[in-house]
Amino acid sequence: MPQFDVDLFVIGAGSGGVRAARVAAQYGARVKVAEEFRVGGTCVIRGCVPKKLLVYASRFADEFEDAAGFGWQVPSPRFDWKTLIARKDSEIARLEGIYRANLERAGAELVEARAVVEGPNTVVLPATGERITARHVLIATGGKPADQPHFIGREHAISSNEVFHLKSLPERITIIGGGYIALEFAGVFAGLGSKVTLVHRGPHLLRGFDDDVRLSLETAYRDRGIEILLERTVARVDKAPGQLRVTMSDGSMHDTDVLLSAAGRVPYTQGLGLAASGVALNEKGAVIVDEFSRTNVPSIFAVGDVTDRVNLTPMAIREGQAFADTVFGERTTRVDHKQIPTAVFSTPEIGVVGLTESEARAVYSGLQVYKATFRPLKATLSGRQEKVLMKLLVDGATDKIVGAHMVGDHAGEQVQLLGVALSMGATKADFDRTLAVHPTAAEEWVTMRTPVA
Ligand code: NDP
Repeated sequence: MPQFDVDLFVIGAGSGGVRAARVAAQYGARVKVAEEFRVGGTCVIRGCVPKKLLVYASRFADEFEDAAGFGWQVPSPRFDWKTLIARKDSEIARLEGIYRANLERAGAELVEARAVVEGPNTVVLPATGERITARHVLIATGGKPADQPHFIGREHAISSNEVFHLKSLPERITIIGGGYIALEFAGVFAGLGSKVTLVHRGPHLLRGFDDDVRLSLETAYRDRGIEILLERTVARVDKAPGQLRVTMSDGSMHDTDVLLSAAGRVPYTQGLGLAASGVALNEKGAVIVDEFSRTNVPSIFAVGDVTDRVNLTPMAIREGQAFADTVFGERTTRVDHKQIPTAVFSTPEIGVVGLTESEARAVYSGLQVYKATFRPLKATLSGRQEKVLMKLLVDGATDKIVGAHMVGDHAGEQVQLLGVALSMGATKADFDRTLAVHPTAAEEWVTMRTPVA
C-alpha cells in the first residue's frame, strides 16, 4: 500500500465538499479540505441562504399592503437596503463560522487556499507550491455564473455574485433570464420597490416547468408590475451618465440602473488541472462521473454542481454523503436523481415534484389531471387578486400520483411533504382518504375530486 499524506483531499468547501469531508473524517479518514474563497460555498455565501433572506425581506411589502384589509393602519413603510445587506452579511458570517466549526469538530483540516489537481493522487497549492498526496481526491468546486449571453457592453452587467452587494437598492433593474435565479431576483426587487424588467429569449418563462405553472407565474408577475419582455434578447448596453441604456434585439430601448445577467451557471472546472490529470470532462466542462461519483481516474471523484447532474444543494449534500459512505464507510450507496422536489422562491412561490403534464402525457395514456385555482382565504379581506394554483397528475391505470405542482404561498414547504408522499408511491385514493385540514390552502390537495382532463 503506498503511503499518502491524507486519505481524502477535497477541493471546495461548499455543501457537497463539506458533507463528504465531515463524514469521511468521522469514519476515521485523514481529511484536508481546500477553499479559495469562503467556507460554505455558493449556497451559504452567495446563493440559497442570502437569497432566501432577501426574499423574506421583499415579502413584507405584501404584508403591509394586506394589513389594511384587516383593519390595521400602517404608516407608509420605508425600506433601507443597507440595513438589510448588513444584517444579511452578519448572518452569513455566522453560518460560515458554523461550517468551519463543523469541519474542525469532525477532524477535517481546512486549507484556505486554491488547490489544483496534479495527478491521480497529488494536489498542489499554487500559492505556496506545497504538494499533498492523497489516496482519494474529491472535486467539489461547484459552479459559477455563465459568461452568457454576449453582447456589446457585456462588462456593464453583473451576475448573482455581485447582486448581493449592491451599494443601494436600484430604482430600476433589468434582469436577463427566465430561470430560477432571474425569477427569484425579479420577485425580490419588485417587492422591495424597484421597477423590474425581465428579458427572456424564450416564448415563456421557466422552460421545463409545467405549462400551467409557467403561465400562472407570468400572470402574477405582470400583475405585480414586472415588465416581461419575451422572445427578445439584449443586443447592446451603453453606459450613460448615472444609468445604462439597454438596446434590445427588436431595436427597442430602455434605461436601467442595474443589469443582472442570470442566464445559467456553468461547472467551475477551469484551471483545476483536471484535463492534464486525465479526468474526462463533458462539452460543458462538467466532470463526468459514474453512479458512485467516480471519474474515469479511479482515485478522483466529484460531487455537486461541478458534475452538472442535478444542480441543487440538497443533491450535492446527498452525493457527498453517498461518496463518503461508499469509499470510507464500507456502505455502498447510490444516489437517486429522480423525482426531486424543488421550489422556485419567486413571489408567488413555486413548488413542484414529479412530472409535468406534457412529460406525463408522453408516458401515461390514461393521465388524469386535477387542478384547483382559487383566491386564498387571506385574500378575501386583503383584496389581493392573486390566485393559488394546485395541480395533481395521476396515472389512471395505477392511480399513482406522478406529479404535483403549486404556485402560491409556502409552495416550497408544501412540496417538501408532497415529495414524501410521492416517494412512498402515494395514490390518488391515499390523498382522497386523508382528512382535510380546514381552513388551509393545502387541503385542496386532498379535496380535488373531478379531473379536468
Ligand atoms: P436556469 O438554467 O434555471 O435558467 C437560465 C435561464 O437563462 C433560462 O431561462 C435560459 O433560457 C436563459 N439563458 C441561458 N443562456 C442564455 C443566453 N445565451 N441568452 C439568453 N438567455 C439565456 O439557470 P439559473 O442561472 O437561473 O440557475 C442555475 C441553477 O441553479 C438552476 O438551474 C438551479 O439548478 C439552481 N438554482 C436553484 C434554486 C432553487 O432551488 N430555488 C435557486 C437558484 C438556482 P432557456 O430556458 O431558453 O434555456
